[in-house]
Amino acid sequence: MKFVDLSAQQGRIRSDIDRRINAVLEHGQYIMGPEIAELEKALADYLGVKHAISCSSGTDALMMALMALGIGPGDAVITTPFTFIATAEAVSLVGATPVFADIDPRTFNIDPAKIKGGIEYAKKSGLIPKGIITVDLFGLPAEYESIEAIAKEESLFLIEDACQGFGGEYRGKKLCGFGDFAATSFFPAKPLGCYGDGGALFTNDDKLAHIAKSLRIHGTGDSQYDNVRVGINGRMDSIQAAILLSKLDIFKDEVEARHRVAAKYTEGLKGVVETPFLPDGMRSGWAQYSVLSDKRDKIRGQLQKEGIPTAVYYPKPLHLQGAYATLGLSKGDFPVSENAASRIFSLPMHPYLGDKEIESVVKAIHRAVKSEG
Ligand SMILES: *Cc1c(COP(=O)(O)O)cnc(C)c1O
Repeated sequence: MKFVDLSAQQGRIRSDIDRRINAVLEHGQYIMGPEIAELEKALADYLGVKHAISCSSGTDALMMALMALGIGPGDAVITTPFTFIATAEAVSLVGATPVFADIDPRTFNIDPAKIKGGIEYAKKSGLIPKGIITVDLFGLPAEYESIEAIAKEESLFLIEDACQGFGGEYRGKKLCGFGDFAATSFFPAKPLGCYGDGGALFTNDDKLAHIAKSLRIHGTGDSQYDNVRVGINGRMDSIQAAILLSKLDIFKDEVEARHRVAAKYTEGLKGVVETPFLPDGMRSGWAQYSVLSDKRDKIRGQLQKEGIPTAVYYPKPLHLQGAYATLGLSKGDFPVSENAASRIFSLPMHPYLGDKEIESVVKAIHRAVKSEG
């Protein structure tokens, strides 16, 4: 069994992918070819956002969003410690400081009630709080209504780290549409993945979109060798855009398939492990199906013996990472994240997981929980 089965998906669309890659080989515009504009339009239409700006990765998308908003040294950005390192790393890469606010134990997303504490902490540390980065962890939306209200009240920008969020919905509105900017990743194992690194920024703000497009190509101005700001080499390859166009065609169907898998897991695992909590009005894109158990290691050991892969996202919250030792934080500072990190694990999740496979995962977990020792 595979944790993420990209080959089943490829089998379904292989001829279309071949056709689109061949078109790139024919026209030879490997950088900023026609597939880029085609993909950006398709993404904007799918999500219902005004601007989609393809780029080199989710990390670069986050970094360019911060650059476009003018964030730098002396600024603090409030975010969750229970995420992939890239969320905070982007903040550090522009010279600003990540300030953490603990998560809601039920959703694993930043707890809106803890954001004010983060703002106070930043001020006490001599930093200027400038913004919030939410993460739609595992595909589940952050609590946008309360967070948007806090951002407005405190005059903070909001960036949605939707690197796992593509495919989810909050009160009928698709994820990747929140905040001043939303950033997503097309890393192969994400819900919508290409065959290499890739990402995108989304915004409804014309001015921010204009700046982000310039940042993506070395801060270009009106012509190629006119540089009006310091930017990066942040473009997506035409071939990756071609692949994403093929995959976007079947994405809606794949999200429905993920819902089917998640519903089956939840039905089979209720009361055996703590299954994912879905607040009213939220639809997860099911980037991951993650559960909690005090018997995590035992269950994972049993599944491994039976050839069922699992993963732990994330074993160590960011405030305890060596990379952030300089922040001077320690164990006990974000207890909800620490507790989740010690008990969470994720099951195989992809649109091509069959009922029999789901059942075998469920049965193996039942057996592991019941066994002695
Ligand atoms: C994957 C991921 C990123 C980074 O995306 P890359 O495309 O790998 O750079 C950032 N944030 C979160 C929450 C992610 O899951």
